[in-house]
Amino acid sequence: MDIKITKTTTPKAKPTGKLGFGKVFTDHMFMMNYTEGKGWHDARIEPYHPISLDPSAMVFHYGQEMFEGLKAYCGVDGKVRLFRPEMNAKRTNDTNKRLCIPQLPEEDFVEAVKAVVSVDKDWIPKEDGTSLYIRPFIIATDEFLGVAPSKTYLFIIILSPSGAYYESGLAPVGIWIEDDYVRAVKGGMGFAKTGGNYAASLIAQVKAHDDGYSQVLWLDGVERKYIEEVGAMNIFFKIGGKVVTPMLNGSILPGITRNSVIEVCKSWGYEVEERKISVDELIAAQKEGKLEECFGTGTAAVISPVGKLRYKDDVMIINNNEIGPLSQKLYDTITGLQWGKIEDTFGFVMNID
Ligand SMILES: *Cc1c(COP(=O)(O)O)cnc(C)c1O
Repeated sequence: MDIKITKTTTPKAKPTGKLGFGKVFTDHMFMMNYTEGKGWHDARIEPYHPISLDPSAMVFHYGQEMFEGLKAYCGVDGKVRLFRPEMNAKRTNDTNKRLCIPQLPEEDFVEAVKAVVSVDKDWIPKEDGTSLYIRPFIIATDEFLGVAPSKTYLFIIILSPSGAYYESGLAPVGIWIEDDYVRAVKGGMGFAKTGGNYAASLIAQVKAHDDGYSQVLWLDGVERKYIEEVGAMNIFFKIGGKVVTPMLNGSILPGITRNSVIEVCKSWGYEVEERKISVDELIAAQKEGKLEECFGTGTAAVISPVGKLRYKDDVMIINNNEIGPLSQKLYDTITGLQWGKIEDTFGFVMNID
């Protein structure tokens, strides 16, 4: 892929002090167009700037869009690493297929990410726990109010330096098991990384927040009986010594952190079960003292220990609302790989040179 690079002549001041998440953007962005009959074209890196779209652009009306999320890490050795970006490239195409967005060559996706991160390398924060969040996304740009797949698209990558997710160490969260609203059903878009899934989730998220819970755990959309996933994280349980997580069934997002956690747990000799898990099973396991740990997995937090699970009138306190040993060990191992603190025997990290 030929990427035309235009550098800014007015670099912005780098943020000082505490970095939050997703509010500060770097000096550059990657852009590429798609036109039916021509394919993907005009790959370019330009100074970060607002984009202008016609109000009739299809993305505004029927939500034909997709996004990805990954990070670049500045290691303890000063080297810049990505974590399994080829999996984000593959997932992009799985999402695109579901949303009738054209396929994007996976090597081009990875090359574009590497190129724009390299240009804005100085923006990667170096403090412990920080990273550069990478947000690739594709939007439908045809100027047309008819309901049909667009014939033109824009692929953009923006970058945002982000602070440590846990400012004072890993901390357990309280999760609300939602028994009224549902997020996705088999045959829908649950496995795709697309804005519509998030639009559908906001109302329950607001309700959970109002009740003092940090996130929502979704149940299956048909029986509202089986565990699916948390807002932007997959979910794991340690039950009677075994690691258990809902199987990918079409309505769950196939997380890259999820996949990595499974691989790492297996390498440590854990039995890992990917299967249906009902809320009733969890409540029973809790009563028998077998629900040992619960944690969410995702790019943002890596591992998010769950100390409290609420379902209707039941509140389950897990591991005394403390971080479990497996949660801590997984967090240390995966972040250790990302920041180059431990040798990568899994082949998970990709260096940017
Ligand atoms: C992105 C996402 C995840 C986590 O995926 P990772 O690849 O591990 O970051 C989980 N659930 C949903 C709904 C997501 O959008």
